[in-house]
Amino acid sequence: KQAKAEHIPVVYHDGVADRSASFHMEVFGRLRHAVRNGELTLNYQPKVDLQSGEIRSVEALLRWPDSGITPDVFIPIAEKTGLICEITRWVVTEVARQMLEWRHQGIQVKVAINISTRDLLDKSIAAFIVDAFDSRKVDKSQVIIEVTESAVMKHATLAIERLSFLRDQGFGVAIDDFGTGYSSMAYLSDLPATELKIDRRFIGEILKSKRDKKLVKAMIALAHEFDLLVVAEGVEHQQQADLLKTFGCEMIQGYLFSQPVEADRLAYLLR
Ligand code: C2E
Ligand code: MG
Ligand code: MG
Ligand code: MG
Repeated sequence: KQAKAEHIPVVYHDGVADRSASFHMEVFGRLRHAVRNGELTLNYQPKVDLQSGEIRSVEALLRWPDSGITPDVFIPIAEKTGLICEITRWVVTEVARQMLEWRHQGIQVKVAINISTRDLLDKSIAAFIVDAFDSRKVDKSQVIIEVTESAVMKHATLAIERLSFLRDQGFGVAIDDFGTGYSSMAYLSDLPATELKIDRRFIGEILKSKRDKKLVKAMIALAHEFDLLVVAEGVEHQQQADLLKTFGCEMIQGYLFSQPVEADRLAYLLR
């Protein structure tokens, strides 16, 4: 029965994936099987220092090999069904294991992990994350928890409480996809964040759109007002990087420097 589930094709209409309820059910079933079967993997994408050109940290990004299904499709389904909590535990454990392996290879790099709204509601997740790194003696200050602005705003009080606990434990905290959700500047000052990531849709048009240029400039100033490091997401062109540098942005993440790559390839890039 399970072997059969693996071979159900995803239905595409005119190149667009079928997003119907049956599509969701099918993806959910296959995803749950993939998680439990150890089929998910992680890629790592560098965040690069704009001044030195060096890799400051890397973001762990989920991949579901051979499924033809990207995180943009399967993460929302995992969130809706609650499967995300199981996936996050796997991601956390895998990152801790990978960091230990890199350490044995003489490689030290900060790693960022994405956490969903649903994870923030899970009472035991924070303790699980702490234990995953403590038990392997991986320095928690080398780990960054990324949470989207909208996840934070949805349950602000709880999010601030959970993230403050993690911050107190030494983890870095990044606000992801900044600028896309409804947020309050007041919350920004209440969040125990260390890093702010400007969503790539603002970066995409930054050279052409005066509006986006002004918004990005203002977001960077706002972040610095709260002592947050700024990462610009989705930087694909050198001119974007140059402009961001003049705005005082600290880091860039995007195809200009590197796509998300497998752990071995990342070790090579770091060397
Ligand atoms: P995100 O956390 O904002 O991650 C950045 C996304 O932008 C990644 O997409 C990355 O591959 C993509 N990206 C990076 N540079 C560029 C660029 O220069 N141009 C363009 N067009 N895209 C770029 P990806 O890997 O498909 O992940 C999409 C989203 O899925 C992530 O957005 C995150 O919200 C979610 N996700 C991925 N892995 C995980 C995970 O382990 N846990 C959770 N909860 N969510 C995850
Ligand atoms: Mg992220
Ligand atoms: Mg993002
Ligand atoms: Mg995103």
